[in-house]
Amino acid sequence: MTNKLVQEAPYHPGYEDAVMNDKGYEGANLADAIRFKMKRDKKRFWAGDNISDYLHEGDKEILINEATEAFEKVLDTLLIDRETDPNSKGTARRLAKMYFNEIMRGRYDPAPDATAFPNDSQDRYEGMLVVRSELRSMCSHHHQPVSGVAYIGIIAANKLIGLSKYTRIAQWCARRGTLQEELCNDIAREIMKATDSKNVGVYIQATHGCCENRGIMAHSSLTQTTVLKGVFQTDPATKKEFMDNIKLQQEFAPR
Ligand SMILES: [Zn+2]
Repeated sequence: MTNKLVQEAPYHPGYEDAVMNDKGYEGANLADAIRFKMKRDKKRFWAGDNISDYLHEGDKEILINEATEAFEKVLDTLLIDRETDPNSKGTARRLAKMYFNEIMRGRYDPAPDATAFPNDSQDRYEGMLVVRSELRSMCSHHHQPVSGVAYIGIIAANKLIGLSKYTRIAQWCARRGTLQEELCNDIAREIMKATDSKNVGVYIQATHGCCENRGIMAHSSLTQTTVLKGVFQTDPATKKEFMDNIKLQQEFAPR
């Protein structure tokens, strides 16, 4: 059942199995092929979702080429001269690379490797751990920057992960199009997954470009969100210890 589309698309495996396995697909580029597969599988691909399972090696480069052409069209529509304006010449490609490799990287890259170490000896650590992680994200409504800090609190279970892994996981969740409320939930869920702990708290405070650079133009707007799971939610003393820890951290290193 090799059809004409497959013969004409020599370059990558993702395209080929989308076309080979699904009748009726007639897109001409890789983004169409991947989108087709995700729809077929009922895989959600919202701005905050990770879609790394659908990317093969080398696909990112092809998608960057496709996005470059699309951004060129946007710049043309904005009536920006990308032929003679030296500052706008490479802008379409810069934007494409920035989206895939930086500000939305967490959508395309698989979860960071978070090797866990056993915490089951006699003198196992049973206290609370609070890690402060710098966050850079982007709101999915306006594609404006969101910047702030996340405080991740956890009561250690039988697995411990390296301290830097908390921040890597938080950044992987943040480098997408997000809502702060969703981001808080995403970080809590991924930390629970990586550590097997049911007792996790995440507090984020961040400023939003979409409130600062446009709209209400509020320069000092600060948004706080908290997600509490397990004893962080049910035990007032644990919750208080978490919040007190955050205050101590903020005194030590104000953002
Ligand atoms: Zn926004």
